[in-house]
Amino acid sequence: MRKVVLVPGDGIGPEIVASALKVIEASGAEIEWGRIEAGKKVLEETGRTIPPKFFDMAMVKGPVATPVGGGFRSINVMIRQRLNLYANVRLVKSVPGVKALHEGVDIVVVRENTEGLYSGIERESSIGTVETVKVTSAEACERIGRFAFDYAEAHGRRLMTAVHKANILKKGDGLFLNSVSAIAPQYPGIKFNDMMVDNAVFQLVTNPKQFDVIVTQNLYGDIISELCAGLIGSLALVPGANFGDNLALFEAAHGSAPLIAGKGIANPTGVILSAAWMLDYIGMSTESQSIVKAVYKVLGEGKVLPQDMGGSATTQEFTEALIDAMG
Ligand code: NAD
Repeated sequence: MRKVVLVPGDGIGPEIVASALKVIEASGAEIEWGRIEAGKKVLEETGRTIPPKFFDMAMVKGPVATPVGGGFRSINVMIRQRLNLYANVRLVKSVPGVKALHEGVDIVVVRENTEGLYSGIERESSIGTVETVKVTSAEACERIGRFAFDYAEAHGRRLMTAVHKANILKKGDGLFLNSVSAIAPQYPGIKFNDMMVDNAVFQLVTNPKQFDVIVTQNLYGDIISELCAGLIGSLALVPGANFGDNLALFEAAHGSAPLIAGKGIANPTGVILSAAWMLDYIGMSTESQSIVKAVYKVLGEGKVLPQDMGGSATTQEFTEALIDAMG
């Protein structure tokens, strides 16, 4: 029996996490879940956004809402910074049979998770003018560069593309690009190139198959990974993980989708694939594989599809189809 921390989150979080728990149970994986709340409700009740007992080797988390244009600071960003989960990885892979803008997409987006424009440093320098500080340190750039190359090497990837805007942000993005470029020669088996972020999004939409692994800074990675989700047919198809040196937190790429929360129609695929990734991470690769296979089978057949993918299945019906497919 392995211990894993579970954070159901806000909005659709509890519904999709409940679905993931059923699928994990059906896979035969024996997990002792340490359930922890983190979010707006906890903040209001306890004055803390993250409970003190949060640390564990592996965590599965549902999405957590953040107020727009004011209010408390993003709990997601705080968790990532406090636990030093410096690398965010999102796997954007076409599912055969699923209708999408492009087929055969297989891109890994590695995003620096602790600084950049998510530093939280903003000031009103004069009335009507706000300055937002983008923090870029050599240490964080080297760390994410090395992580990306190590990930690529360990997973048989062949091309690394560093995405930046170093023509305009000469110092900050320049430091990122120089740091990653300096690491590249240490990985001769992986081709390296770089692309400006504006060109990168155009290239992604028109010819996504030219990409393999993308390494980039915080905000660019956030935007690029959701754009990539659009290429493969649903925001809910993309699993994600945040890695630190000895910790990993697995969560879908999407947010708490407040407009559909409580309706029982959310697509749980992202959190299910993230949870399957967690199982692999803790050494339960057989159980992980059986979940991934079931997801591919059900989505590929297209008979029971969640509503955001053009089907009519509820979260529960889709979950049952996955469990049947594992049969
Ligand atoms: P969102 O990802 O919640 O929703 C974007 C769109 O995709 C909406 O139309 C939504 O209905 C749809 N969608 C998302 N997930 C879906 C699913 N599983 N099934 C079906 N449809 C789905 O993004 P948003 O609306 O910009 O943000 C809502 C909240 O989520 C905000 O408070 C934001 O801060 C938070 N958020 C949290 C995380 C996280 O916890 N990691 C990530 C992104 C956004």
